[in-house]
Amino acid sequence: MTDCIFCKIIRGEIPCAKVYEDDAVLAFDDIHPMAPVHVVIIPKTHVATLLDVDAKDATVGRLIAAAQDVARIKNVAAGGFRTVVNCNADGGQVVFHLHMHLLGGRKLEDQLG
Ligand code: 5GP
Ligand code: ZN
Repeated sequence: MTDCIFCKIIRGEIPCAKVYEDDAVLAFDDIHPMAPVHVVIIPKTHVATLLDVDAKDATVGRLIAAAQDVARIKNVAAGGFRTVVNCNADGGQVVFHLHMHLLGGRKLEDQLG
C-alpha cells in the first residue's frame, strides 16, 4: 500500500524512533504519546484493520510476542501496561494499517473510552 503512512515508515520513507524490529514486526514511539511509554507495534505486511486479520496466520501472535519484548525494553513489564487495538471509526482508528498501542509508565485510568 504505497500511500499508507505506516507502510512508508516500514520502507524508511518517514523516520521513526524505532523501539523493536524483527522480520515480521516493527515497533516505534507514537508521535503523539498518551502516556510516558506509548509504542505503536505494526506488522510489516499491510493489513488494514483487525477485521482483516486471518486469525489462522501468525500475525497476531507475532504482535503479541513483540509487545512482550517492547514492555521489557521500555521497563514497564513489571509495573504493568495496556495494549489497545482500535478498529474502524467508532473504535477510534485513524491509521488503516493494523497496529497495537502499548501504553505504560503511569497508572492508567480505568475507563477505556
Ligand atoms: P489509531 O488512532 O489509528 O489507533 O492510532 C494511530 C496512531 O499513530 C496515533 O496514536 C498517532 O499518534 C500515531 N501516528 C500517526 N502518524 C504517525 C507517524 O507518522 N509517526 C508516528 N511515530 N506515529 C504516528
Ligand atoms: Zn500499510
